[in-house]
Amino acid sequence: HIKENGRDGVGIYAPYMTEKTLDYIQMSSQLRYGIHNEEFTVYYQPQIDLKTNEVIGTEALIRWLHPKKGFIPPNDFIPFAETTGYITEIEKWVFKTVVEQKVKWQKEGYDNFKVSVNLSSKMLTHPQLLAYIKKILDEYNISGDYIEMEVTETAIIDNLEKATDVLKQLKELNITIALDDFGTGYSSLTYLQKLPIDILKIDRDFIKNIQDINDEAHILKLVIDLAHSLGLKVVAEGVETEAQLDYLRKNHCDIVQGYYFSKPLPEADIKTFLENRKTCL
Ligand code: C2E
Ligand code: MG
Ligand code: MG
Ligand code: MG
Repeated sequence: HIKENGRDGVGIYAPYMTEKTLDYIQMSSQLRYGIHNEEFTVYYQPQIDLKTNEVIGTEALIRWLHPKKGFIPPNDFIPFAETTGYITEIEKWVFKTVVEQKVKWQKEGYDNFKVSVNLSSKMLTHPQLLAYIKKILDEYNISGDYIEMEVTETAIIDNLEKATDVLKQLKELNITIALDDFGTGYSSLTYLQKLPIDILKIDRDFIKNIQDINDEAHILKLVIDLAHSLGLKVVAEGVETEAQLDYLRKNHCDIVQGYYFSKPLPEADIKTFLENRKTCL
């Protein structure tokens, strides 16, 4: 009998096992090993404030350096980690790593930007989340002012009451809350007003197709204006071209993030990026 749970399933092999089950088991044991073996690393993508032209934040994005398969992007293992429960360990590690990095940057004089961390739906409603976050902030003696957390609409709406409560408590720690991937999920405008969020991150899918006067551009402009009227700041994700940047600037988007400025970078390259921007401003 094959158990559904990958953890218990490791090592069990039966001839009627489908390739998918086998994948699941392999992935599960490799992920567990990877966590144990610290095969993960965090890249950071700069976020630029369009008013000041300065780096106002960096988004922390996890990468898995698999010993055999090489670089595995998050979309290939995060959803799996979410269904198996490994996500909790992974995200605890990410948060601690990011806080540690933030403290290091501050000591080196790079102190005026936030670090933004993605939170899965599972982690958002995890009973120990707040205690863990408080513990780490305490341990590193850092204020929540420097931390931002990104959650998707789906993650919130799946568990509206609990999630809203957790977000409120995170905000009490001065942590900034961003709604990630806006425009891909329900994108219900009525929720926007009710959720305890500070920032709206418009998904790359939305930014990709803007041409000066098409429908997408009109909707984008409306979303930016609406967000502002609700007191939210707007981040545009996945900005790749000058035309997109111009449009966003013209329509008062606050912050941009994308390959046009920089891909996500390992910590060492972030410093170079910051130094280079200083000299070219
Ligand atoms: P996301 O949070 O929406 O992150 C933005 C993704 O868009 C990143 O992909 C980033 O590399 C990519 N991106 C940024 N600018 C551009 C651009 O100009 N062009 C293109 N083509 N792509 C751009 P990445 O790093 O592969 O991450 C994918 C997703 O994985 C993230 O989407 C996030 O949902 C998830 N993820 C990453 N790290 C973590 C983590 O630590 N915890 C959790 N729960 N999820 C994570
Ligand atoms: Mg994100
Ligand atoms: Mg996003
Ligand atoms: Mg996205």
